[in-house]
Amino acid sequence: MKSFNLLVLMVTVFLIACAPQEVPSDPPPVIGQLKVGFDIDDTILFSRDNFLKAPHMSDDPDHVDFGWVNMHDSLYSVVIQPTADLIGFLHAGGHEVYFITARPGTNGEAVGRFLSLKLGFPVVLGENLFFSAKKKDPVSGHRFTTKHELISKLGLHIFYGDSDTDMIAASIAGVRGVRVVRDARSVEAYSKNYFGDTRSAPAPKAPYSEKTYQQFLSSGVGPYGETIYPIYFAEPAVSD
Ligand SMILES: [Mg+2]
Repeated sequence: MKSFNLLVLMVTVFLIACAPQEVPSDPPPVIGQLKVGFDIDDTILFSRDNFLKAPHMSDDPDHVDFGWVNMHDSLYSVVIQPTADLIGFLHAGGHEVYFITARPGTNGEAVGRFLSLKLGFPVVLGENLFFSAKKKDPVSGHRFTTKHELISKLGLHIFYGDSDTDMIAASIAGVRGVRVVRDARSVEAYSKNYFGDTRSAPAPKAPYSEKTYQQFLSSGVGPYGETIYPIYFAEPAVSD
């Protein structure tokens, strides 16, 4: 009898050990509450001057000291007011706002402090502020966005951004991407990754010209743009 009790005890312990473990889960979503993501550069911050003044780590114009950039938004970056108004509107309505940037994250807390000050609510690294640098594909050598991983993980519903990669990341994550039209001075300074590069000579990687881009803008796109990719124009209506 003793050995039978021992067997029952062992089987019980075994079954408990095999039972699925309770995994702590996030709180259930609030029905109707949006989780909205925003890119930073040229979406909530006009940061061209910050990048122009930043020290470079090499002769490569893209090899910027991002640790310095992240510390100097308060001196050289300006909030893009229509985007700040939209963020304020969402925040006041009880929706959640997140920021995802492709800047490397060195000194990233400083970006959070600056955005908190300007937007009037806490923007905290690892909570609603994330750094998601591009990754180079070892085979092709192309650098691809990684923002879609965070967009999915955070369960965002909409993602606002200015660049081609923002639209691509939203698309891969399966959420609505909305293009914020980039300031003309940033198009001048950083035309890469914007409708392919409207300032470049025509090439397979840059099929859209400055003229096409201006047509796009003149067709009534507002500050929040549209998810048009590639550029598309409706033919003007012909009256009989
Ligand atoms: Mg941007």
